[in-house]
Amino acid sequence: MESFKELNLSAPLMKSIEELGYEKPSPIQAQALPILLGEATDFIGLAATGTGKTAAYSIPMLERIDPKSKKVQALILCPTRELALQVTGQINLLGKFSGVKALPIYGGSGYRDQIDGLRHGAPVVVGTPGRLIDHIEKGTLDLGDLKTLILDEADEMISMGFRDELDAILSKAPDSGNIWLFSATMSNDVRRVADTYLTKPAQVQVNRTEMLSQTVEQIYYFTKESNKPEIICKLIDVAEDFYGIIFCQTKALVTDLTDYLIDKGYKADCLHGDKDQRSRERTMQSFRDRTVNVLICTDVASRGLDVKDITHVINYSLPRELDSYVHRIGRTARSGQKGYAISLVTASHKGLLTRIERLTKSRIIEAMVPSRRDVGQKRVSQLLTKFLAQTSHLKAIELMNDEWLSQISDMPPEEIAARFITLCMPDFFDFA
Ligand code: AMP
Repeated sequence: MESFKELNLSAPLMKSIEELGYEKPSPIQAQALPILLGEATDFIGLAATGTGKTAAYSIPMLERIDPKSKKVQALILCPTRELALQVTGQINLLGKFSGVKALPIYGGSGYRDQIDGLRHGAPVVVGTPGRLIDHIEKGTLDLGDLKTLILDEADEMISMGFRDELDAILSKAPDSGNIWLFSATMSNDVRRVADTYLTKPAQVQVNRTEMLSQTVEQIYYFTKESNKPEIICKLIDVAEDFYGIIFCQTKALVTDLTDYLIDKGYKADCLHGDKDQRSRERTMQSFRDRTVNVLICTDVASRGLDVKDITHVINYSLPRELDSYVHRIGRTARSGQKGYAISLVTASHKGLLTRIERLTKSRIIEAMVPSRRDVGQKRVSQLLTKFLAQTSHLKAIELMNDEWLSQISDMPPEEIAARFITLCMPDFFDFA
């Protein structure tokens, strides 16, 4: 399917899609939309973040909503608050001209607004399982009129320990509605949920290779564990305009690396499971507005993270779960832009590399770690750019006097430049 026009969508929805600038359906949308817009059915979509899965279910979900009814007609379950907020945002953009808004309901924020929102009338609710159960039990969320129940990142919800909550919510959904399950992977637990609650589901899957952008360059550096922090600094230094995410296996590694980079003067921050809601939101905001350009996180904390124009995804170590590799690097090189997926690989992980290449049907090229000289040249060239862009230097000339000038007038220009460079990047030259 080449265009959204072929789908005969309602005029308001088509207008939103045009306004969002979606030119043609992504592979998961091309497969899922004709099914979900057709006869009512349960559904399984195997697709990860970055594939356009949110729109793949939100478009047909919105077409089923009666904006005049105040009843909850669609419920979307997400593993994290971040994903719930992102999904809410996307539904609100897609529903802009249809007059449909989504209500986010997640733990860590007050009940009052959520109860008011539900009472006021919320056709679409997006939430995390724990808090949704609370509302169902309090009687503030009624699923009696639900037409569509969507599980987003079902595998992640289960691995985060929401299995009982999922069972409780799924068993309360009316039989007359449909369940659409989206997951990056089809684990045994996801299969069990599907077998228990879905009726003759249609199933589509995007190939992992389709999920990987053609413009992502996959590179690895072979290194010792102890050299990794220093390599990260070099990679940030030599990048044109680094705006990237670094994935670590554990929370301890995340905090250690973040402290190390902040200490070295980088604009870094982190996301991990132990951060409270407000501090996570603050971090996300600083990363979005680029006051922070290096975000260090664990896989779980980064779920649903959807930030545009990421230049680099760095695997501090290769993920043990191979699917996570695709998940991680799917965040760069969006919309045809160039992006780098860089992995730091130790001897014990070399075998994983071959498996990832096989899984993604792509080549990961070994590269040489940038040398100190490379880093130096890059910093000098950045300095030169700033130097040439300087426009207020005439004021400085007024301060100079002949005596000063006489001290440098015989000095060759390269020596003057070299002295200033040393002055501007003292940390680079302060070695014996
Ligand atoms: P998702 O996989 O749902 O997290 O979506 C990833 C990103 O792709 C989001 O920023 C969407 O706005 C964007 N997106 C979704 N569908 C399309 C499309 N057909 N064309 C361009 N961008 C899209």
